[in-house]
Amino acid sequence: MQTNLADFIRGTPEGDEADAILRKCVHCGFCTATCPTYQLLGDELDGPRGRIYLMKQMLEGAPVTRSTQLHLDRCLTCRSCETTCPSGVQYGRLVEIGRKVVEEKVERPLRQRLQRKLLANFLPNSTLFTPAMKIGQQFRPLLSKKLRAKIPLAERPLAAPTRKHERKMLMLSGCVQPAMMPNVNTATARVFDALGIEIVTAPDAGCCGAIRLHLGYNDDALEDVRNNIDAWWPYVDDGVEAIVMNASGCGATVKEYAHLLRDDPAYAERARRIVDLTRDLAEILPQYEEELVTLARRRGVHTVAFHPPCTLQHGQQIRGQVEQLLTALGIEVRLPADSHLCCGSAGTYSVLQPKLSYKLRDQKLDKLEKLEAQLIVSANVGCIAHLQSGTSTPVTHWIQLLEHLLYG
Ligand code: SF4
Ligand code: SF4
Repeated sequence: MQTNLADFIRGTPEGDEADAILRKCVHCGFCTATCPTYQLLGDELDGPRGRIYLMKQMLEGAPVTRSTQLHLDRCLTCRSCETTCPSGVQYGRLVEIGRKVVEEKVERPLRQRLQRKLLANFLPNSTLFTPAMKIGQQFRPLLSKKLRAKIPLAERPLAAPTRKHERKMLMLSGCVQPAMMPNVNTATARVFDALGIEIVTAPDAGCCGAIRLHLGYNDDALEDVRNNIDAWWPYVDDGVEAIVMNASGCGATVKEYAHLLRDDPAYAERARRIVDLTRDLAEILPQYEEELVTLARRRGVHTVAFHPPCTLQHGQQIRGQVEQLLTALGIEVRLPADSHLCCGSAGTYSVLQPKLSYKLRDQKLDKLEKLEAQLIVSANVGCIAHLQSGTSTPVTHWIQLLEHLLYG
């Protein structure tokens, strides 16, 4: 598509990037068919092609309104459209730029500003979030249904491995995950321990930056990114083999670090090295399939329904690995119809767009429950908590299932 960007953004790094992305779009509309918000709302402007058109107009200097902001707000950033697009349009990057421009041009109502600021400051801050989650879990039965849906039941903690190994991998603990589902990190460490790999963590690492990035607080998000690079660097220097991600949402963001800091001379090179080392569990563990098959026992679980998070299948383009590994371990893995569609969790989307979010959740659960599996497994803390809030079928991380198969 032809473009003619306005003076305010032409020639800037963001303008050049947006321009190159826009020029790739041929307006074919294939992406519209796989967009969850278009499917729900049936409005062209709530699908990728319409949103791309809105962003093009905005970057070409057309007036920006609350309506433009609303259509971009309703986007889940699931990137299903990117997987579908035959022209390689990087919608995720474009919408990041588009959202930043809208934030600069359209002032949100006070309530929204406060809500977004609160989310951006509270969720990534484990000093605030962890005690709040603990209190929430203690008083869970007394809370409203809406609040209960956001607070998973407290877990009985797994014992962390104590053995030391020569081989070491660094793991991102995450910001909300250790408070909401601490056993995901422990299960990861236990599975790697069984393979003779020690999982180490950097105490000063924190949020991957995704929460602030998606809320449009780009500068704060870049501080999160730089903080993690600083915290991880001594471990990289010490020769860790990989940086392990067990939340696909974080993995998708960490893999963007080189891009996010490409113009920062103090960090660009280190960010590239971090990206080179970053691997989702689904990229590492299949390499150990033989050892895991030898170590695993059946232990009562035989059928699972797998929900592949968007950040895994679209954001990182990782598809099929979890299913294949669990199948090799004797589990029958069932995929729901429309497994490419988002469950509605999408970071803070369930707070900011609750109606659409819960509609998508219920549609996803309907399809998952039709599979009549013993468990639903997924690969991202947000999806797991969101799905669990609408079903009595247990929903868990696949690494916890794997840990169960190894240790019982
Ligand atoms: S599928 Fe790709 S090229 Fe076609 S309209 Fe969507 S983004 Fe544009
Ligand atoms: S990212 Fe997801 S919700 Fe947003 S336009 Fe693409 S497919 Fe639709």
